[in-house]
Amino acid sequence: TIGMIALDGYGKMAVGTSTNGKNHKISGRSSDSAIPGCGGFVDETVGGAVATGDGDIMMRFSPAFLAVELMRGGMSPQKAAEVSLNRITTKYPNSFSGAIVVASKDGEYGAACYGMDKFPYSVRDSRESSQTRVIEVECT
Ligand code: ASP
Repeated sequence: TIGMIALDGYGKMAVGTSTNGKNHKISGRSSDSAIPGCGGFVDETVGGAVATGDGDIMMRFSPAFLAVELMRGGMSPQKAAEVSLNRITTKYPNSFSGAIVVASKDGEYGAACYGMDKFPYSVRDSRESSQTRVIEVECT
């Protein structure tokens, strides 16, 4: 899955996902990526989130929606990413692998992952530079 969170200079936000459902390419299957709240969710008064991984598990937890709602309650994007993913991994500690990237309306961001070594994601923040940075998070 490719997930993207966009925030412009006017405070407008959008999220999008694109997936080939790599490991679950079953005819007629609707990936979690296409379901609002699972693959992605945004409320531009709060922030946005996008998720990747085992969609058949993730779609039971609405992780992108949860992360945004946790930020609405005052949590940082990094903590919201960790808590949202943790909701899944406490139920599926052995079989799940996935990641979530979260950004606030203020342009703060964070990510969490599980079931793999590291998860790389890209950030381009025009307030800092015109370059894209790749950030790697260590997975739990
Ligand atoms: N979540 C996607 C799916 O289950 C796969 C992925 O993120 O790579 O279809």
